[in-house]
Amino acid sequence: MNILDNRLNIKPLNIFIDPQYPVEKAIISHAHADHAKSGHDKVLATKETIDIMKIRYGENCAKSFQVINYGESLKINDVDITLYPAGHILGSAQILINFKGQKTLVTGDYKTVDDKISTPFELIKCDTLVSEATFGLPIFRHPNANEEIKKIITSLNNNSRSTHLIGCYALGKAQRVISLLRDSGYKETIFIHGALEKICRYYMNNNIKLGNLEKISNLKDFDLKNNVVIAPPSALKDRWSRRFKNKISSQASGWLSIKQRVKQNQIEIPLVISDHSDWNELTKTITNTRAEKVLFMHGNEEALVYWCKKKGIDALPLSIHGLKEKVEK
Ligand SMILES: [Zn+2]
Ligand SMILES: [Zn+2]
Repeated sequence: MNILDNRLNIKPLNIFIDPQYPVEKAIISHAHADHAKSGHDKVLATKETIDIMKIRYGENCAKSFQVINYGESLKINDVDITLYPAGHILGSAQILINFKGQKTLVTGDYKTVDDKISTPFELIKCDTLVSEATFGLPIFRHPNANEEIKKIITSLNNNSRSTHLIGCYALGKAQRVISLLRDSGYKETIFIHGALEKICRYYMNNNIKLGNLEKISNLKDFDLKNNVVIAPPSALKDRWSRRFKNKISSQASGWLSIKQRVKQNQIEIPLVISDHSDWNELTKTITNTRAEKVLFMHGNEEALVYWCKKKGIDALPLSIHGLKEKVEK
């Protein structure tokens, strides 16, 4: 029996993982908007995920909340549910479902590289693996993030009259880029767009050291020189960014290994920094979980399905999982 259907419903319990529309009971893998929606009756997640959902959507974004800590098991009827760190962003979790000894693991978004700001990814053995596939093509090999950030440090040294504007998603990426800048020895105040403030403060309250940050709107004069400003990628494209004179635009994203994207977004300093697994991490994880069956979601599934089949592992895109069964009935 497949414990999960292709909408990630744990069928015997009617609990959905990362549902896209309001349900009675939802397990949320992490607080990114494509996984965490508001309006569920009950949300089960890590404390950090619940906190961040409340920051972003309001205290009443679900009727009730239940915290599940990493490694802690929740037993409902014959099903054991355990959350493990996914290393993607603060609070991100993989979800292990143990049903009468059959283990199904849903990775959610994950990366195996330790970013020092989220709890490191834990490898969990399972029978069936439901894996994300965002960067599921062999062309995707993320470079070392510490090396990527040096591009900014070098540019700051060479362009002392310019403002360095770095586009980063507000949750996870912004804090990672700030932390990487600090690790590379950058001690100056970093200026942030207002949209980043609450999440940055939440990370800092969780003992993640981001150094001195200042909200850009507190400044009257935008003629910053030799400074770093972090803003959501959308802000780089709109009027907001025109106030900066002598700006050098940068962005941090795993997609920027594609030259076309760099050109499209007019990025002068592309930082190939991702919070998702690249091809090597995905395939290595599949092998190491020893899963006999792998279902892929969330991206480039075909190449991974092909890779699995060549290795003798049963594989399918999650979207068609279970559908054949219905037809046969
Ligand atoms: Zn995510
Ligand atoms: Zn995602």
